[in-house]
Amino acid sequence: MTTTPKILDGIAIAGQIKAEVASEVQALKASGITPGLVVILVGEVPASQIYVRSKVKTCGELGIYSEMLTPPESITTEEMLKLVTELNERPDIDGILIQLPLPKHVDTKRLLEAVAPDKDVDGFHPVNVGRLQSGQPGLAPCTPAGIMEVLRRSGLPVAGQNAVVIGRSDIVGKPAAMMLLNASATVTVCHSKTEDLPSFTREADLLVAAIGRPGYVTADMVKPGATLIDVGINRLTDAAEVERLFPRDADRAATFAKRGSVVVGDIEPAAFAVSGAYTPVPGGVGALTIAMLMQNTVTAAKLRRGLPVETK
Ligand code: NAD
Repeated sequence: MTTTPKILDGIAIAGQIKAEVASEVQALKASGITPGLVVILVGEVPASQIYVRSKVKTCGELGIYSEMLTPPESITTEEMLKLVTELNERPDIDGILIQLPLPKHVDTKRLLEAVAPDKDVDGFHPVNVGRLQSGQPGLAPCTPAGIMEVLRRSGLPVAGQNAVVIGRSDIVGKPAAMMLLNASATVTVCHSKTEDLPSFTREADLLVAAIGRPGYVTADMVKPGATLIDVGINRLTDAAEVERLFPRDADRAATFAKRGSVVVGDIEPAAFAVSGAYTPVPGGVGALTIAMLMQNTVTAAKLRRGLPVETK
């Protein structure tokens, strides 16, 4: 018997989280605390400008104080370190986010390690990586934290499930695997060197794809009824590729005709049909990342002041 797959609506879940964050911010303000976030955007990367503006706008909507700093492309690592040190010392700032990627001449690793761990709202500092690993309260990376919220708020089981994560980046794959493990899933991490990858994915009750390759996971790689979490964001600009991944999809064809591109995840749309539940692209995991950043900013504001933080 086949059932209709459940669409996991990231936009709706992000809305719930943002509403909760807004009321937490109101409660903090009532006791004289306004959470504050600084976003640093170096140079002129159009995609980064869009992300950063949207982060700053969401801060405004939720009552979080925000500043956007835009040093020129020519800034040196030393100058960036000085900027980060000043922000680490500012009492009114709870979160510091350095928008990646940085120009090649800037030492990204050194900078990320210079952010005070308690203000590291991206959750990339080794101290926060260690806290996640050892199950201590801290700041966790936003995209994988968003995946866990989708699962939790959709009532999907994690404990005891066979979870397969494709991708082992520090930003998505590795922390997602750690969070699933902390939630008692049996976790396998696959990557570019994995041999016979479909033999792993076909056993997955829960499959997370964070690869960066359009439609890489095909329907025959998926266990029927599995939960599919598609983290990939890939822009297709080739009409034949659009037709291959979205055959006879009039809406996508119209979007492509209008914009010259469409976005697809790492899981081919035909695979969603055999799943039990899935996150669409767009409108799935991607929608959660900013909401989780806002949540992390509030968590940072509370942790810095020794206030209790809800553990999930
Ligand atoms: P990355 O390039 O850092 O890592 C990709 C991973 O995929 C690597 O670990 C690699 O081992 C694995 N991989 C590559 N080719 C493979 C193959 N043929 N078979 C198996 N594994 C393979 O990418 P990332 O930063 O983790 O991002 C992954 C995707 O998620 C991208 O499409 C990115 O745009 C998207 N993303 C979305 C969000 C969001 O929704 N907010 C955030 C971050 C990343």
